[in-house]
Formats: sequence, C-alpha cells, structure tokens
Amino acid sequence: MQDIDAIGAVIGNPQTVLITTHQNPDADAMGSSLGLAGYLRKKGHHVTVITPTDYSQNLHWMSGNEGVIAFDEKLRVPVTQLIAEADVIFCLDFSSLDRIRELAPLVRQSRARKVLIDHHLEPESFADLALWDPTAAATAELVFQLIVALGDKDLIDIPIAECLYSGLMTDTGSFRHPNTTGNVHRMAAELVDLKIDVSSIHRRIFDNVTIDKFRLLGYVLNEKLRVLPEYKFAYITLTDGELKRYRSKTGDTEGMVNYALAVEGVVMAAILIDRNDEIRISFRSIGNFSVRDLSSKHFEGGGHRNASGGRSKLSLSETEQKLLSILPEYQQLLLETV
Ligand code: 5GP
Ligand code: MN
Repeated sequence: MQDIDAIGAVIGNPQTVLITTHQNPDADAMGSSLGLAGYLRKKGHHVTVITPTDYSQNLHWMSGNEGVIAFDEKLRVPVTQLIAEADVIFCLDFSSLDRIRELAPLVRQSRARKVLIDHHLEPESFADLALWDPTAAATAELVFQLIVALGDKDLIDIPIAECLYSGLMTDTGSFRHPNTTGNVHRMAAELVDLKIDVSSIHRRIFDNVTIDKFRLLGYVLNEKLRVLPEYKFAYITLTDGELKRYRSKTGDTEGMVNYALAVEGVVMAAILIDRNDEIRISFRSIGNFSVRDLSSKHFEGGGHRNASGGRSKLSLSETEQKLLSILPEYQQLLLETV
C-alpha cells in the first residue's frame, strides 16, 4: 500500500497532526517519528508526538525530543483530548493497535484521518491511508521516501537527517542485517552528504551505556544465558527482582538477545522478561528460520522473520516451560538452518 499522493493531499495544508509509535520505542520508532515531525513542522503543521511508554535515555538527544509526550496514567486527560482533537494521526513503526497499549482505544475512536507508515508484516486495517512496505529496512526509510516523493527533499536538514539516519542505522544493525539493501545505502549516502556526523550519532546511541546496564549484562552473560545445542537455541530469562536489583530502566535490556544469537552454532535466540505484569519475549533468528511464525502462533506476537516479539500472561517460569515444550515442533527446521 503506497498511498503517497493521498497522504500528500491530507497534509496539503496546515493540520493538527499527532504522531504516535509503538511501546518501548526504539531508535527507528523515535527517529522516524521525530524526523517526520520536523518535516511536518517545516510545512506549517502543528505537530505533537505521543509515545505509549517512555523510552531509553540514549534517544533523548534527537531533535524535537523535548516536546514528546510519553503516556502515563497521570496524563490521560490531556492525551485523550489531544488525540480527539487531531485532524491527522500518523502511526509509525507498528502495524497493529495492540502495540500502542493505552493509546489504542483513543486512536481507534478518534475522528482524525489515520495514516500508517510501517514496515511490519500484515497490518491490521485500522488506518485510512498507508505507506506500508515490509521490504523496507526501517520506518525511517519510508518517511524519507515520502518526503522525497512529495518533492520536499530539500527540507531535510541536519536535525531531520540525524533522526532518519538513526532509524536506518539501528534497524539494519548498523548496516549489517540482510535488510541492508542498495536503497538503504543510497539513503544513508544522501543523509551523510548533508554532513551529519555519523560517528557521533553511533556513539550517542550505542556508546552511552550506564554502568548499571553493563553490570546487568555481565550478570546475564554469566548466570542467565542458557544454550540448548540440540535445538541451536539460546535464551535468557530475567525476573522483575533481577531487573530491580540492577536498577534497570526502559531500554536497558534492548539488544541483549543478540548476545544469545551470537553464540556459535545458535540460529534462534530469545529473551523472556518479567515486566509490567506480563512476560515480554523478544526472538531473533538467522537465515530462513522464522521467529515471526513461532511468536505469532504461540505468543500473541509478530514482527519480522528474523526479529519478532510476543508476550505471555503466564508466570516467567511457566512461559519458559511453554517455550521449551514447543521446541521439538521446530527442531528439524532449526537444525536445518545454518
Ligand atoms: P523487539 O524484540 O525488538 O521488541 O521486537 C522485534 C520486532 O518484533 C520488532 O519489529 C517489533 O515491532 C516486533 N514485535 C515485538 N513485539 C511484538 C508484538 O507483541 N506483536 C507484534 N505483532 N510484533 C512485535
Ligand atoms: Mn522499525
């Protein structure tokens, strides 16, 4: 779905625009949202970015961050009003409303035109218009495409470029995942030509680690990483108590699952985290093995073939047992994957 002309018409004159993105927003969620916000403000729109939850400190440098409203129960009244009064709501980097938690019913009921910009598989059809492409590496790539297609490439300044570059860089794993296409590099080249400081952006996002996060990682790698060679599977579990012991903040477990995937011979990795009264699971895989299929079949989840997530209302140890019990179903496929 590529309703670019229709999206152009919707934002053809100044509107009250709201941009929202998925819970625990990552650098693509925030980068695409704030990049789009910067562009729309230049076009004369009144723009507010609302996130369903707070997000990691290493994303707070992005231009426009100071105006972001991270939903909190205390803000229910003003947020409800903002969503109800918007003319247009852009939904970025998620494809089903359950990814925006408390905001979902408010967005669903709003009279605003809803525009989805996303690269996840199988969108729930809640939007009026969509720029949806599951072959795009990042939502930031689609926002860039939209701005270019609307003839506004010259409105991309350094702050907007930095936001978009951040989404592109992180969703491609710093330009190394299989989604790193020629288009990704062409877009990166155009942004770099604007003289953004790529090295500084990388440092701000990845080398800005609190000592608590490193200590938690040390503990996890020492004590909590379990490898099951017979399934080419490795996983990590984290209890609420362990998170508290290491003063873990939103975003501190981001990327941790990749250590499990990096263990030699491993083709599927998972991290199970007990947080906010549910178990959040992140899955990663390599090659043709689809963690999206597994998480949508068993853990109310979805995402991409090699990176997906899901959840469970069982306890942490019950969720772990459930995951272990379904592994035989996938054993053959896992062992075939190299
Ligand atoms: P992460 O593990 O980084 O939270 O998510 C990996 C990928 O899976 C992301 O693209 C994310 O959007 C997707 N994902 C994570 N959790 C869920 C979920 O509960 N439902 C769906 N449909 N996708 C998810
Ligand atoms: Mn993304």
